[in-house]
Amino acid sequence: MPKKEILFLSPVFTHNIWGGTRLRDDFGYEVEGDDIGECWGISAHEKGDCEIVSGSYQGKRLSELWEKEPELFGNYKSSRFPLMVKIIDAKEDLSIQVHPDNEYAGKHECGALGKTECWYILDCRDDAALILGHNAADKPELKTMIQEGKWFEFVREVPVRKGSFVQIDPGCVHAIKGGLLIYETEQNSDVTYRVYDYGRLSGGAPRELHLQQSIDVITVPAKPVENSVIETSGMQKNHWNELITCESYRVWKLVLEKELEFNQKYPFLMMSVLEGSGSINGTIVKKGIHMILPYGFGKVRLKGNMEIIASTVGSG
Ligand code: ZN
Repeated sequence: MPKKEILFLSPVFTHNIWGGTRLRDDFGYEVEGDDIGECWGISAHEKGDCEIVSGSYQGKRLSELWEKEPELFGNYKSSRFPLMVKIIDAKEDLSIQVHPDNEYAGKHECGALGKTECWYILDCRDDAALILGHNAADKPELKTMIQEGKWFEFVREVPVRKGSFVQIDPGCVHAIKGGLLIYETEQNSDVTYRVYDYGRLSGGAPRELHLQQSIDVITVPAKPVENSVIETSGMQKNHWNELITCESYRVWKLVLEKELEFNQKYPFLMMSVLEGSGSINGTIVKKGIHMILPYGFGKVRLKGNMEIIASTVGSG
């Protein structure tokens, strides 16, 4: 039987030209620099493999547990830990990109997985927007707009506010704009096609674009905006509100008031505290803590006032 222990993880950070200081200033993470772009809160990625910080698995990496202790994850079938969660601080705009689905990635990227991801807006300016989808009516128009660089006409800007939740399916053009602080849940995959990078230089040269692959995989026409953005601010408190269920993951939001009990009945449950503080089965937790509740964990007792996003594997 797996040990019924919470796996607390030590995040990994990345430095990016578009990053800022909010991961240190707002979340209290001890990390230097003024270009901190991402906090990988739960990750078994080879470029940032989180370490377990306490308990019987202290010092072990998440990828190692996935390989050697599969019962912790209900023996879920996947060659690697399937998901990843990040907090992203975008001081500047990120490049405009699109991800393929599993089928296209498998065929064209040496058997890699595609990527589905979703964003929960933690904070943003009043006039905040992100890029989600495009304005081309059909494939020929899409091709013309991309090849002739009609970016202004091509991309669709969608207004968002604190608490907006956005699902980004494979084939959906997207970009995070400057001023957004985002919590991201995604498939553990790397395959990204860059459509446009605002003509910026990185180390003196423009970053590589992937125009043909982008034209191949972008969904035309784009999914309507009203089916892509959910507002969560009015959702029921002290309740696990489901934000999405898709092939790759399920995601919930909880605004905890005082206390709540529930059962962990999934192969594993990932949880991040994004606001406030309290305790979980007697262990003190606060904003910025990321954890995994293993298979067979059973009863969970939360106390305090906290905002938590949780996720697990999807229906696929
Ligand atoms: Zn993406």
